[in-house]
Amino acid sequence: MDEVSGHDFGSRVELALAATNHLFNARNSPRYVAQVLQGVTAVATKLERTTQPFTGVGPSEMKARVGAVDLDRPLPDTAAALEELEEVYLRDAVYFHDAKYAAHLNCPVVIPALVGEAILSAVNSSMDTWDQSAGATMIERRLIDWTAERLALGREADGIFTSGGSQSNFQALLIARNHAVAGLRLDSANAGLRLPSLLEKLRIFTSEDSHFSIRKSASMLGMGFDAVVPVRCARDHRMDPSALAGAMAEAHDAGLVPMAVVATAGTTDFGAVDPLAELAALARAYGAWFHVDAAYGGGLMVSNRYRHLLEGTKLADSVTVDFHKTFFQPVSSSALLLRDGAMLRHVTYYADYLNPESAALAAIPNQVDKSIQTTRRFDALKLWLTLRIMGADAIGALFDEAIDLARRVGALLVAAADFELAAEPQLSTLVFRYRPFLADGTRLSPDAADALNPAIRAAVFASGQAVVAGTKVAGRHYLKFTLLNAEATLEDINGIIGLLRRTGESLLENDPAFSNSGISKAGNSRAGNTAAEASA
Ligand SMILES: *Cc1c(COP(=O)(O)O)cnc(C)c1O
Repeated sequence: MDEVSGHDFGSRVELALAATNHLFNARNSPRYVAQVLQGVTAVATKLERTTQPFTGVGPSEMKARVGAVDLDRPLPDTAAALEELEEVYLRDAVYFHDAKYAAHLNCPVVIPALVGEAILSAVNSSMDTWDQSAGATMIERRLIDWTAERLALGREADGIFTSGGSQSNFQALLIARNHAVAGLRLDSANAGLRLPSLLEKLRIFTSEDSHFSIRKSASMLGMGFDAVVPVRCARDHRMDPSALAGAMAEAHDAGLVPMAVVATAGTTDFGAVDPLAELAALARAYGAWFHVDAAYGGGLMVSNRYRHLLEGTKLADSVTVDFHKTFFQPVSSSALLLRDGAMLRHVTYYADYLNPESAALAAIPNQVDKSIQTTRRFDALKLWLTLRIMGADAIGALFDEAIDLARRVGALLVAAADFELAAEPQLSTLVFRYRPFLADGTRLSPDAADALNPAIRAAVFASGQAVVAGTKVAGRHYLKFTLLNAEATLEDINGIIGLLRRTGESLLENDPAFSNSGISKAGNSRAGNTAAEASA
């Protein structure tokens, strides 16, 4: 017997009725339009009123504000929730469209992609199976073909959209690993061995400047971090082919199996594009997989001026491209491309309830057969609308602008006596540091510069007036600009340089920790606080 009292039943029906008003359906379509418009308007208003990339809010204040929200007590309407969102998010978010945001590869986004974002999340296609996606699968496949063609990967190429460069790199190495293991199993001496004993022999070669996701992937693939052999770069931060040749020969002579060579087309710090053709030849000589991580440099494929830098991708077995970096797409949008699409079988698993083998045999296009994700967003729609509304050349022009701006900023930094540029810009990043001459005519010591530059960065971040990144080069602390904003001007970036300089001068003058007599350990550990105070 159902023991529900009349009262409970009544309120339950009421709640369910009210709840159905929130469902995205034909009856509620005016509500959908109105509410999304309220949200979009809140963001648009925010953009119009935002004059710097950040407010400088700290984590403890944000934690308190977010923590004060009672999640078990909903607000009366969307307007109230958006008002609250201003407090807990929008006011203090980091804004990538601002010309003084110059830190990471997260990019200003293009409006056609935002239209796509709204549509894809509303329709909510899921890319795992044809019966949840239909045309979305064909759009994704068409864009994979388009990308593979731009990368000159040949007629057998295929690929899949992923959540990001890290996932694309992981999947590439998973396929390369399984391909290498299948090769090892052809040797009868290995026939009875379980996977872990085979993995022991495999090595991945990549430059010391390559992305950390390569090492992390090796670890996740059961090979250990130390299966990755770091290869020396030349002075221009591109992998040195003779160093690779030496490292591969050494591994081969030790009875190890060179599983893969991972080249980078656009390193995260220096934008360096490795000498792809030479590295490809070495990979081939040892029967190793040749993967190109073009997470950053991928946008060069639509550049009319710098496209030639990616020419070597035609020799790759696989390529990572992050559309959410140099194609100006919102997170997430990335892809993995393979020269031989059949290699995707290494991630295929047939589940009776979802993608039975019978479906594959009947040529039903289930994208889950090619992916390490199951339920998956239709991120390809953003790129589709971007190409249909703006066109590829326009995307390339945006990246070209950022590359040109980086060159001009590089010249500024070379001319500035109190800054040191670590290397000529290659794409749109600049690695540099503040190292002024002191009253006695000597230059600030490298150790003092190591303490000062992170303090400058922290102080500028806390001021919210600009956001720059930091990195290390040969153990030394540097600052980094990543420029992706085609509307940022030389004056904007010069403004950031001025801010960095003034902050550095102020720290040197007012903070005993940064006096010329050298920096004590205690001074170093206080640097973060004093920096924040200096900017207040
Ligand atoms: C950003 C980047 C990645 C990681 O991509 P995510 O989309 O952040 O996962 C990998 N490789 C390079 C060279 C990158 O710059």
